[in-house]
Amino acid sequence: MKILIANLGSTSFKYCLFTMSGSSQELLAKGGFERVTEYTPCIEEMLQTLTDDGHLSSPDDLDAVGFKTVLGKNLSGCVEADDRVLEALDGFKEVAPAHNPAYAEGIRCFRDKLPKVTRVALFETAFYQWMTPAEYSYALPKAWRDLGIRRYGFHGASHKFVAERSAELLGRQDVAERVRKLYIDGPGTFDAAPLRVVSCHLGGSSSVAGINNGVSIGASMGFSPQSGLPQNNRIGDLDSMAIPYVSKMLGLPIDEIERQLNKESGLLGLSGVSNDLRDITEAMDAGNPDAKLAYEALIDSIRHWAGSFLFKMGGMDALVFTAGIGENNPDLRARVCAGLQDLGLTIDPEANQIRGAEAVISTPDSKIKAIVIPANEELVIAREVLRFIQAK
Ligand code: AMP
Repeated sequence: MKILIANLGSTSFKYCLFTMSGSSQELLAKGGFERVTEYTPCIEEMLQTLTDDGHLSSPDDLDAVGFKTVLGKNLSGCVEADDRVLEALDGFKEVAPAHNPAYAEGIRCFRDKLPKVTRVALFETAFYQWMTPAEYSYALPKAWRDLGIRRYGFHGASHKFVAERSAELLGRQDVAERVRKLYIDGPGTFDAAPLRVVSCHLGGSSSVAGINNGVSIGASMGFSPQSGLPQNNRIGDLDSMAIPYVSKMLGLPIDEIERQLNKESGLLGLSGVSNDLRDITEAMDAGNPDAKLAYEALIDSIRHWAGSFLFKMGGMDALVFTAGIGENNPDLRARVCAGLQDLGLTIDPEANQIRGAEAVISTPDSKIKAIVIPANEELVIAREVLRFIQAK
């Protein structure tokens, strides 16, 4: 089965083509376009390239196209990318302005160009569908909540992959199987011994999720991906009263406040150096105090959220690091886990040197395992699309 994953940014279009059979999968081709103003010519060029290179006998040789949609109004999960999805994306275009209009246009282009090819949307919020109202509700007046303002959680594809892979690594095939079937069958009931995982997706965009027996019980991101940990140049958590206060004190209109919270905040805002943690740690090592502040604030926020989920789940069996920072920054991982030996988590300094590969980085006698699991979001989406098609 050939599955194309379309990654649509506001000015870019990237794709990966996988061939999937049973539990094996292979990346056949990947590519992309920058400075995109219209998706249709890019899709046409991509299909031509894939055909010329022999990966497809014709464009209709594709079995499905998968879209990593971010946030839909009144809709989540892994679903057919039909009119319902377009409506849901449109309903929240103000909340995800860089992503929702791009995905809506991309889905329409594929529908017009390849009407026979199945289109599947995997929402980034899908992994959090089973949070309880107490977990997802903000304490707001009903009229606000009726607009759909609540916690949603994001990076669902990545955290779900961590849920499945960590269960496999910890010898819990029962939990891994539950995760595999989650979007098809729902969580059902589960009586076996608990498996409590805290997953840290740390990259340009970062979030921490609590995962109990393969099902998420919460995430650091809320109504939008602008909450939780400090992001590359996006705010993360902020007390809502700061916005009217800054508006009055600095005389800023709401559009400018939104721009600064999205573009000039996060690690960039704190460090004044860069939105990339490599530049920030370099500046910190050279003695820049603002860079040190940004690095330490990120670590503090990771510990804050991980601790919150540990408490909620009544313990933690594994702490997982994934994505660019999580996979490649041993110093940050060691600092996140510092002083936790009384809880039963001790990092093995040698094992912790691993970069970009899967490894257990805690000591063998550590009760809580610390694990690095590399993210491969395109492949994760392709696997979910395959499961969706097979279930259909
Ligand atoms: P991502 O969004 O997952 O690509 O992650 C981007 C972040 O990961 C940036 O802040 C980078 O500083 C960090 N990162 C990526 N690769 C490395 C690396 N090889 N060493 C250290 N940090 C890295």
